[in-house]
Amino acid sequence: MQPLIKVEHLNVIYNLGKSSEYRALNDINLEIYPEEFIIFFGPSGCGKSTLLYSISGLETNTQGNIYIDGKNLTLFNKNELLTFHRKTIGMIFQAFYLIASLTVQKNVALPQIFMNSDKKARTKKALEMLEYFGVSKQARKLPNELSGGQQQRVAISRALMNDPTILMADEPVGNLDSKSSQDVMDMLKLLNENEKKTIILVTHNPAFLSYAHRVFYMKDGVITETRVNRHVHGVHIATDDEVKPNISRELELLISTYSSLSPSQIGNLLIPFKAKQIVSEALIGMTTEEVGKIEKKVENLLMTGVYDNDSTFEFLDQSMEKGGADLDKRTAKKIADKIKDIIGEIKKIEDEENKIRLRISPNAGGEVMEVRHYLLDSYDIEVKNFIVLEVIDRAIKDRLDNVIDRDVFRKRLNAPLRRGGAGLNKRVAKKMSKRLELLILGKYK
Ligand code: ADP
Ligand code: MG
Repeated sequence: MQPLIKVEHLNVIYNLGKSSEYRALNDINLEIYPEEFIIFFGPSGCGKSTLLYSISGLETNTQGNIYIDGKNLTLFNKNELLTFHRKTIGMIFQAFYLIASLTVQKNVALPQIFMNSDKKARTKKALEMLEYFGVSKQARKLPNELSGGQQQRVAISRALMNDPTILMADEPVGNLDSKSSQDVMDMLKLLNENEKKTIILVTHNPAFLSYAHRVFYMKDGVITETRVNRHVHGVHIATDDEVKPNISRELELLISTYSSLSPSQIGNLLIPFKAKQIVSEALIGMTTEEVGKIEKKVENLLMTGVYDNDSTFEFLDQSMEKGGADLDKRTAKKIADKIKDIIGEIKKIEDEENKIRLRISPNAGGEVMEVRHYLLDSYDIEVKNFIVLEVIDRAIKDRLDNVIDRDVFRKRLNAPLRRGGAGLNKRVAKKMSKRLELLILGKYK
């Protein structure tokens, strides 16, 4: 099956070249298939709307390629874009955008006016649409005489007037109570299943994720992962995760399953399994004995957790007589890279675990916490946000362990939250770092 939409290396940078330059989308690649129900999900500001509008042809600060039905939107001129947009795409928004001075029916008929259609025909069609969505009784009212849920149904009717292939919805239930939200979501599902509309919906609300065939998770302008709920028409569409197995998720799962185990215990459970997987993927066609030997070696490498690219590669590449695995250079490189990735992943998880442990077990981080209380109390600062506390604690721990110097400590306290800092003001950060130095000198000398 050919994708209906294909996005290649899409970047959107606002205010390019100015001091306010902002990269809203960073190398987005995706494919959407006919009749899929897709959700772009992520926190506010992560770029969902920007991605939606880029695909709709409304966003023009784009770099990269956007294909719809095989046609490259980025090569269209303004008029071609407009025509494309009117014919192919219907849009609904959180704020409905109905024209307050026009009746419901006229609002719905509006898109057809731009298509030069016969007035009678478009009035009739508008009524049919309103009928379909259960708001035909409201046809002669003005939009603000309707409830929010009804207004959104009217907006959906309007979006469908030109019979678009794709319906885009930007936070369509963001303004609705839960009952109306449910109604509108069910309408969209109906349109997807019965009317065969491809639907792309943007939301920051996880409550609706199950409506989608696939969910693209977004963060800071990138797609972090794709999850499949259902396959459209039973057609299996491989996600990135299926193409290359997502190690993090596997480890995450393992950690939550064995939450009482320490990271190293989990690692030990996992390592033989991982070693086997790495090896079997790369070594189709070798004898059992050869494979076993390499497995053992990979297992050892994972166990030590120390990655030395050269020696790993050398082992994999070197001849059997010299104690190596005698692989061709490309395969050796592939395995070596994979081992490196996995060791990196295991380390990441250990860091996460340590962070959590620091937070939940006062004894483990006792000293850090004591120091933190001392520092914050000295300046009468009360921190309520636990992310800030975590940043401060980590900075204190790193300074106590002498992993960072005084300057870095100060900078971490001062840097804004979004850049991983604690967001304390300059003066306080400076004073606190000085006080910590004094403390260290007194205590650790
Ligand atoms: P979302 O829909 O996920 O909340 P948006 O796509 O609206 O996010 O915005 C992504 C980021 O791009 C935000 O930080 C936003 O402030 C910024 N942004 C959006 N539109 C513009 C614009 N026209 N000029 C500058 N920055 C913008
Ligand atoms: Mg948005």
